[in-house]
Amino acid sequence: MARTASQAQTQARAKGQTKKQTQDEAQSETQNWAPRVVPDLFRIPGQERVTGILARLLSRPPRVLLLEGGTADEREKLGLYWTALLNCMAVSPFPPSLSSPASAQDRPTEPRPCEHCPACTRIRDGVFLDLIYMDGREGRIGIDAVRQLRGLLGQAPRDAKRRVVVLGEAQELTEEAANALLKSMEDTETRNAYVLLAPQRERLLRTLVSRSWVATLSWDLDKVQEREGEGELDTEWTEALTRFLKTGQGWFARTMVKTQVDRSLAFHLIQVSRQALIHACQGRPDSSLARIVHEQGHPQAWRTIDLRLDEAEQGLRTQVAPALVLDWLAVGLRCALRAPLR
Ligand SMILES: [Zn+2]
Repeated sequence: MARTASQAQTQARAKGQTKKQTQDEAQSETQNWAPRVVPDLFRIPGQERVTGILARLLSRPPRVLLLEGGTADEREKLGLYWTALLNCMAVSPFPPSLSSPASAQDRPTEPRPCEHCPACTRIRDGVFLDLIYMDGREGRIGIDAVRQLRGLLGQAPRDAKRRVVVLGEAQELTEEAANALLKSMEDTETRNAYVLLAPQRERLLRTLVSRSWVATLSWDLDKVQEREGEGELDTEWTEALTRFLKTGQGWFARTMVKTQVDRSLAFHLIQVSRQALIHACQGRPDSSLARIVHEQGHPQAWRTIDLRLDEAEQGLRTQVAPALVLDWLAVGLRCALRAPLR
């Protein structure tokens, strides 16, 4: 949900005038939609390929940009980076690199936010008035929050080249809210740009995806951290999980010895499974776990597995017993792989 949107709703209802907002009143509400201040906003190591794509999109910016993949923090940064690129006063919308097929040597560098103009500094400091950031990490984004925006979206941007509406973790949009948003995208001010952030496009309403230009962030596939001194134990558990997915056997005997299962092991197994899922989706299964997911799975199953992994991680964070989380996860993954394609 949008930051303190419920407070804003209460205020709006009290005023009894959601439709007849003046620009200033509408604007004052957008302050509830300020983004987080992200340190080191303009440095996004490992995502140079995507910043390059964004630079090339600048000559004809898509109305709706969907950024998938990477981590939630990387997606957030790139959403704000795109906002800066669209609004930076030092960036020309027509980079010469597009028109002149120069050699690699004398090709001008790709445009990037200057970091110093008023637009860049305001975006960096989280005070850019024409940026509306709704953050799904804070809960579901409901219809009320989207409706509240509508009055504002019909007006010209306050003082930016483009008003940018970022839907952080857009998979948290309710279906109703997503449909309302689609309508806004179609019939409001053309200087509005929309950014959807999501782990995978499959988790969004199909109509939203079809309206979007999709850029996939690089996955840091080698980031699964080895737990110090636990290499052998980790391999054993990964193999046990793989065996359980294949045969349905040998898992619960392991997790029953609860002293063996701690949070760090559970997090590790979630990470390993996520890596296997990504490799399987990319058609390059390079571990026995990834091979199972690849051979027995299909896009629908992969989507379910992705959700189960998220839920397992959330469970761990809310202090559910690690052994319980792992049992639940193992069963969930096996069911996902065995479910017939609907
Ligand atoms: Zn700038």
